[in-house]
Formats: sequence, structure tokens, C-alpha cells
Amino acid sequence: MAAYEYETHDYDVVVVGAGGAGLRATLGMAEQGLRTACVTKVFPTRSHTVAAQGGIAASLGNMGPDSWQWHMFDTIKGSDWLGDMDTMEYVAREAPKAVYELEHYGVPFSRTEEGKIYQRPFGGHTTEYGDGVPVQRVCAAADRTGHAMLHTLYGQSLKNNAEFYIEYFALDLIMSEDGQCQGVLAWKLDDGTMHVFNAKMTVLATGGYGRAYFNCTSAHTCTGDGGGMVARAGLPLQDMEFVQFHPTGVFGPGMLITEGARGEGGYLSNSEGERFMERYAPTFKDLASRDVVSRCMTIEIREGRGVGPNKDHIHLNLSHLPAKMLAERLPGISETARIFSGVDVTKEPIPVLPTVHYNMGGIPTNYWGEVLNPTADNPDAVVPGLMAAGEAACASLHGANRLGANSLIDLVVLGRAASIRAGEVVDRKAPVSQPSQTAIEASLARFDAARFAKGAVPTAELRLEMQRTMQNNAAVFRTDKVLAEGVALMDGVAAKMDDLKVTDHSMIWNSDLMETLELANLMPNALATITGAEARKESRGAHASEDHPERDDKTWRKHTIARVKGKSVTLSYRPVHTEPLTSLKDGGIDPKKIQPKKRVY
Ligand SMILES: Cc1cc2nc3c(=O)[nH]c(=O)nc-3n(C[C@H](O)[C@H](O)[C@H](O)COP(=O)(O)OP(=O)(O)OC[C@H]3O[C@@H](n4cnc5c(N)ncnc54)[C@H](O)[C@@H]3O)c2cc1C
Repeated sequence: MAAYEYETHDYDVVVVGAGGAGLRATLGMAEQGLRTACVTKVFPTRSHTVAAQGGIAASLGNMGPDSWQWHMFDTIKGSDWLGDMDTMEYVAREAPKAVYELEHYGVPFSRTEEGKIYQRPFGGHTTEYGDGVPVQRVCAAADRTGHAMLHTLYGQSLKNNAEFYIEYFALDLIMSEDGQCQGVLAWKLDDGTMHVFNAKMTVLATGGYGRAYFNCTSAHTCTGDGGGMVARAGLPLQDMEFVQFHPTGVFGPGMLITEGARGEGGYLSNSEGERFMERYAPTFKDLASRDVVSRCMTIEIREGRGVGPNKDHIHLNLSHLPAKMLAERLPGISETARIFSGVDVTKEPIPVLPTVHYNMGGIPTNYWGEVLNPTADNPDAVVPGLMAAGEAACASLHGANRLGANSLIDLVVLGRAASIRAGEVVDRKAPVSQPSQTAIEASLARFDAARFAKGAVPTAELRLEMQRTMQNNAAVFRTDKVLAEGVALMDGVAAKMDDLKVTDHSMIWNSDLMETLELANLMPNALATITGAEARKESRGAHASEDHPERDDKTWRKHTIARVKGKSVTLSYRPVHTEPLTSLKDGGIDPKKIQPKKRVY
């Protein structure tokens, strides 16, 4: 093994990731005077959050009546009763405060005539506990909401003296012998130096793992690095079988066309020109929940009513809407449609197809962001020194299916909650503990093995094989047979990790090595996803099984816990939190309203 030296940096808190979740956590920590480092593999404002278009959900009631209880109900129903009630209440209740906070930090929201924050309708967001009309709940900065949020949060973090380590690739968690997290080891991409970030609290905000699939809306950087680090530390992943397909990815390249397009009046049609969602979801039509719309589109295509020469996609129509409105409210997607499918949205429909968009599963946490390592006696046992937030985490706000615009609110409410909790548990006066030498050496050895890997399979080839397998065998509709075959195929794919070939051995800007390390992170995420899906014999939210078409609350209203070691996955389960935080008499949601029922839109 080559010799590696490293520099050590001591902090109260190290946050890994500078997307919406990482920046909101960093800002909250720094505002309280905690010495905070934010380590990120890409420049903060290039994180995937920058691509978020449609908006951020909060019951401000600027456009008509709304309440946090309605938002909570919609989130519960959207989650298909798998979400944790305490988290869902906390987020719905804190959402308006978090959005006003963003406004005061400087996010340039679109405005109504009276100067209030503009809110648009989005799928699954309703009034009167699902019995009323769709609600306008989604706060937007045109169709560039994530962009506006990231720039504002980065500026505020700098103002509060958070320290940024940009283009540092975090390799592994440093875990002490007694199971406490002591920070991370990171590789500085531009000069090849190694760095130990030694901290009293580590926050993983590394985003999703969309790139485990072939067709996805997420950036190339969304490789589930946090999930990979956690799996290698012997900690579990939760509910990984729930992968959201967004109904409207551009057919072919997969870029996202925001749900806001349907929120503003766009609709889907098949080869007969029929507005088919009216048939499947008579009340909410094109604004039914994402899993529902994606399945209906897939059924239309399967039954021969797809559009195009191969009848393999669907049309999204916007041309009936006023051109001025499209230019004001949906400028970004108008441009996307022009560039990626050559379509003028004021004249023609956009060709679209359901595309992998979001990972409901992730690193299990409570709603304070503390990472959980369930034991037989305590399903909610906390890992000392470790937190997770954002898409990398599973606090279970989204359960089996996330509602549109509920991720951006998750980032800011739970990113902020993590900083509040860290403010309580981190002892500012205490010195940082001595980082485990064994853990650092193990991580360096893993790095070195990847750097000099002399097998036969190039990284890009194996990644493609994994992506195609996941796309074919863990897609919108699933069967026992296809999933079982997928598990066997993925076992073969994962086995080839030992036969990788890395040709570039340098330490500086070595993209071959970085992609290999990212593949090593994607792999446990993909394995947990397909194994969890194969085991779950029901249909719930994004997990739709043709062999088990009904939801089975008696057996399956529980979180999947997956521990991945090498290529083997061990599953266990953990109860869903079914109690909200606030009782009815104290102003909480009516327990009768949140009893599981059939999910229709
Ligand atoms: C195209 C698109 C549009 C969307 N639109 C909306 C929307 O309108 N509303 C909504 O609510 N949700 C939307 N979503 C979902 C939402 O944007 C994402 O879930 C969310 O932005 C994820 O934020 P994050 O902070 O968790 O991670 P990200 O924004 O993905 O950031 C991850 C961070 O982790 C860092 N990182 C990762 N690995 C490492 C490592 N090994 N070492 C160092 N740093 C690392 C990266 O550098 C980056 O800074 C959209 C998603 C997509 C893909």
C-alpha cells in the first residue's frame, strides 16, 4: 500500500454536503456559534438542489384557505401510511415558519398582486383532508426555486462564518471502537491531499442515489455516498425499496419537467388525444399523487395508447395556456423542452415518460436528524455523534411516496431541526475525541485498493450493468419473478466489484478513481433497494407489485431495515411511529382523520 499522510481539522460539527439540507444545517449550526465545517464534493451551488424547479410546500394560505393539519393529512396519505406521524406533524407545522425564514434570509419568491409569496397547486396537495378542492400550497421562485434557495443559504452560511471545504470527497465515517462517530476522512480532489475532519457531531447531507438507475432526473453526483458510508460502518438503511418515478421526465434524456407545469393547468394525453387521467383519478386528475400518475401512464403505454412511432411515451400539453403566463411562471421548463426535445411549448406537446426522481428511503433518523441503529430492545436507538438530513436521510416524512414540493421543505425544516438538536447535545467546551486510528487506516486501505484495482472490468461498464438491471428489474411495476431475477442479477453485478480496473493512479483530479468510489457507494444502495422490494409482498406508494396489488397494513405497515455487507443484504423491520406529537385537545390533528384507508385521488 502507498503511504498516505493526512492533515487533521478539529471542529464542533462537520456537515458533509452543501445542498439544501447541508447548507440549512450548516447555517443553523454556525448561527449558534458552533465551529462548523461543510465538506462538499461539488461547489455548493452546483448541488442537485439547484435543479429543483416547482417549489416548496407550506400552508401559508396566501391563495385561499389552508392549514398545517391539511398539509399533514396530505403527506400521510401521500406516504400511503408508511411515514412517521411525529415527523410528518413536525414538518407540516414548522413549514410556514421555515418558508418565512427563507424569505427573510433573502430567497426571491414569486409574488401575488398584493406582494405575498406566490403559491401554486401541486399533485396530492388538497383541502379538507382530501375531500375539498386542490390547494395552492407550493411557494415558488418561478420554476427555479432550488436555485434561489441554494444561493441564499450559501451566502448566509458564509456570513455566519461557516468554513467550507469545497471539492473534498468524503470517503468514510470515522467510527470509534464503541460505536461513536468521530468525523470523516476526505480526499481533496484538486491537490490529492488527505484530510481528517475530527468533530463532535457529523451530519450526512449527501443527497439521493438516483444514479443507481439508468434513466433519472438527478445529477451525475447523486451517488448515495452517505448511504455507502453508513453501510460500510455497519449501520442500516431504511425503506430503500421506495423509489419515486416522476411522471414527466423528457422522453429520452430524462430531464425533469416540473409538476408545476400540471399545477399551472398542463395535462397529459395519449395517442387518442384523450386526457386519460380523468378516467383514473376523477377528482384530482393530472394532479393525483406521482406514483399514481406514473402508473397510469405506464398502463396507457402498455395497452397500446402511447404516442410517437413506437407508442412508447406520453404527451404533456401546455399550448392551451397563455404564452405570457408560460414565460413568467415556467420559463425554465420551456427552455428545457426546446433544448432537449426541440419543442415550442406554446405550440406543441412535450414528449414525456416516468423517470426515476427521488429516493424515499435512506439513512434512518428521528425528526431531530439523529441517526438510528435499531436493536431488538430499542427500534429508535440513536448513534452517538451522527446525524443525517435531506434526501440521504429517511426521517420518514415521505413514507412510501413523497408529495411534490415536500422535499425542499424537508431539507429546511429537518436541516434546521438537526442544528437545533446539535446545539443541545454538542459540548462546546469539551475537546474533540482522538479519532480512531484503526478506522482511518481501514479507509485509507480501501482507497488504495480502489486506486490500484487491477481487475478486468472498467468502472463505467459495471455501473451501466447495475443501472440497466435496476431499471429493468426494480421499476414502476414489479412482479415477484422480475424482482427475484433482479436480486440474482444484482448479486452477480456486485460480485464484479472485486474485479474492477482503474487505469489512472494519480491523486489529482482523478475522475476514474472518484467514479469508482461513487460506484462503491451506489452498490449498497442498489442492493438494499432491490432486496427490500423483493421481500415486500404488498403494494404501497411507489412499490407497486402486480402479484400483490393491495396494501397489507396488518403485515407490512413497517419500515424495512437493510444492513448491507459486501454483496449480502440482511433485512429486518422496525415499527412505524403512528402517534402524532400533539393531541386533538391541544390543537393537533383529529386521530380519526389519519386512520389508514384506501388511497384514492
Ligand atoms: C430535477 C429535480 C427537480 C426537483 N424539484 C423539486 C421541487 O420543485 N420541490 C421539491 O420539494 N423537491 C424537488 N426535487 C427533489 C429535491 O430537489 C431533492 O430531493 C433535494 O434537493 C436533495 O437535497 P439534498 O440537500 O439532500 O442533496 P443535494 O442537493 O443532492 O446535495 C448533496 C450534497 O452532498 C455533497 N456530497 C455528496 N457526496 C459527497 C461526498 N462523498 N463527499 C463530499 N460531499 C458529498 C454534494 O457535493 C452536494 O453538495 C427535485 C429533484 C430533482 C432531481
